[in-house]
Amino acid sequence: MQALAVFPSKKKLQLVDLPQPKLQGASQVLLRVHEVGLCGTDREIGSFEYGSPPTGSDHLVLGHESLAEVIEVGQGVRGFKPGDLVVALVRRPCPHAECRACQAGRPDFCLTGDFTERGIKGADGFLTDWVVEEEAYLVRVPRALADVAVLIEPLTVVTKAADQAHTIFNRLPYDPGPQRGLVLGAGPIGLLGAMVLVADGFETLVYSRDTEQSKQAELVRSLGAQYASSAAIPIQNLAEASGEFDVVLEAVGFAPLMIAATQMLRANGVLALTGVPSDAATAELSVGRALRDLVLRNEVVFGTVNAGRRDHLSAIQHLEQFMVLFPESVRQLITHRVPLEEAPQILMKKQGIKNVVEMSHAA
Ligand code: BGC
Repeated sequence: MQALAVFPSKKKLQLVDLPQPKLQGASQVLLRVHEVGLCGTDREIGSFEYGSPPTGSDHLVLGHESLAEVIEVGQGVRGFKPGDLVVALVRRPCPHAECRACQAGRPDFCLTGDFTERGIKGADGFLTDWVVEEEAYLVRVPRALADVAVLIEPLTVVTKAADQAHTIFNRLPYDPGPQRGLVLGAGPIGLLGAMVLVADGFETLVYSRDTEQSKQAELVRSLGAQYASSAAIPIQNLAEASGEFDVVLEAVGFAPLMIAATQMLRANGVLALTGVPSDAATAELSVGRALRDLVLRNEVVFGTVNAGRRDHLSAIQHLEQFMVLFPESVRQLITHRVPLEEAPQILMKKQGIKNVVEMSHAA
């Protein structure tokens, strides 16, 4: 079977032939991959800036935004049967008994950093035809969501952020009433973030560099949210022009914007950072002002990465809700579907919004 793999030591990204995997344990499930979404993390891995092969291997099979079908189950598998559609969790626990997060089944909060991530860090991914997976790392997906279910993994980034923001809001000694949400960035995470905010009842604004006439801006408006372009309003003027926000979801990964986002918060507001900026980034800002506001206005800034099972279940529920509220907008997030042979090109030359690799046998 073919797979898209990266060879970091040779600086090569190429299709390789691999043997078809077989069930080797009672708790395992044999999956046929239907679709795999591509994201910025994959692009960084494809440029040899991130990611690592499994121990002892010279290559890493890419792909972590999975959608697959169960073909065969081990004798001990109770939760899945052939024909089920599934999405796999990306992160796997570290081996340390003292890591309370991994021991509690939440490797997305791993304390040691020795976790593995399929398709990213120390474990092969899903950009191939067949995969064997442990039952414990699978989540079942309703068939009705089949054409958009590849969006579940990126959506978990947002549902985990929303869950944490909600926990933080629970600290308030009053009912916050109707809330305003700002999303920074109109890539897949930003647009899915806007959908979550709208579906959860927030008055929502998306701010991004795309123009007011862009497909992204149109998509935002189709949700009933507002759109503002950085070409028209510099970030420094945004809060003044549109008011402050209870929740800000950052999905850009550009350090100066991430810092500026602290200035968009209303008192008691929450800023969730999901973008991953480069180490080297610097930003000119008044650190004093940013920190003083955080203290004097009870604000919270938190970073969030990866997601647990409950975030996947929440993503599935949200996606079902989106498909009632604005199904066409959801479908429009997937702008390109290509076969595996074209994956290397589309990975390195991003186009549109979400690019998806469709395996040849996908239903
Ligand atoms: C994935 C996460 C992962 C993170 C860092 C993201 O693209 O969606 O699951 O934890 O990259 O490797």
